[in-house]
Amino acid sequence: MIRAIFEENAGPLVVAGPCSAETEEQVLQTALALKNVPGVKVFRAGIWKPRTRPGAFEGMGEEALVWLQKAREQSGLLLAVEAGNPEHAELLLKYGIDIIWIGARTSVNPFAVQEIADALKGSEVAVWVKNPINPDMKLWLGALERIEKAGIQQVAAIHRGFQVYENSVYRYPPKWDIPIALMSERPDLKVICDPSHITGKRSMIQETAQKAMDLGYHGLMIETHPDPDKAWSDAAQQITPERLGEILAALHIRERTGGSVFQNELEALRSMVDSLDEELLEILARRMELVEKIGRYKKQHNITVFQPERWNEIKASRSRFGNNLTLDQDFIITILKEIHNESIRFQTEIIYTEK
Ligand code: PEP
Ligand code: MN
Repeated sequence: MIRAIFEENAGPLVVAGPCSAETEEQVLQTALALKNVPGVKVFRAGIWKPRTRPGAFEGMGEEALVWLQKAREQSGLLLAVEAGNPEHAELLLKYGIDIIWIGARTSVNPFAVQEIADALKGSEVAVWVKNPINPDMKLWLGALERIEKAGIQQVAAIHRGFQVYENSVYRYPPKWDIPIALMSERPDLKVICDPSHITGKRSMIQETAQKAMDLGYHGLMIETHPDPDKAWSDAAQQITPERLGEILAALHIRERTGGSVFQNELEALRSMVDSLDEELLEILARRMELVEKIGRYKKQHNITVFQPERWNEIKASRSRFGNNLTLDQDFIITILKEIHNESIRFQTEIIYTEK
């Protein structure tokens, strides 16, 4: 009988524990402290650590699984551990680990995910898949599907942020549009947010966890250590169990759906939005008709499609106009750029088609 890990109509599933299992004492001390933090249900710890360069602490390996079993006995928490290859997966099954997660450096590789899926075939373990390090929703979904196809019943996604080239206040910027796209494509999927790896710093965990709750995530995975500054990996982002308790207590949890009065009011407001969207599209279509006329006129007079002065003038005047309507400056520019790109594409097409 498979035990459901996510409970319906409960608060977020909270997964906490150190980045890495370091010593038996550290594992037991953390688990016993977490047992008393309301809401925590799963104890996490890495025992094989994917490190950027060799020589860094690479995890305690199999011996730590015995400590984790003790931690489960003493705390009653379920256990979650990362598997990076099929051998890891088999060992985690052998030790009865409740949840196996696939890390961001593994979910990026379909061959590696498939090998782990094959190793887990037919097992009752729950499997959670972290987003791949590169911002690719389909790759994440594909990894989840490989696990589902192996017959795993309890599959969930973990959002831990993405590797990007630009500098950011985040360690791995969340790019919320990607998990939102995943949830839109798979509304049945449970999604957990990992604010520890997203932020990389203690000071931002609270606000990121709250944002995830506002978006309707089903759980949180937060790295927790009895003495965070001394952690052997990811020290800057780990928090104490006490701090975790404060963060969880301060979270504002919203309902997924409201009662019938709320629902009726929402429907009324949404139907107004629907008709405004239709008006917007009609106006865009009318604008495109003018853009077409202008395109033909430019062609007739052998004039370039792109006119920088005109474009700068559009941006400046529409920004002023939109600002007076209290629209966000970046939002106005983003929309204008999309419209302008489409106009240029359309006029270029006109120039090169015989008519
Ligand atoms: C971790 O959870 O400690 C970890 C290594 O995560 P990720 O795969 O997200 O980097
Ligand atoms: Mn970590």
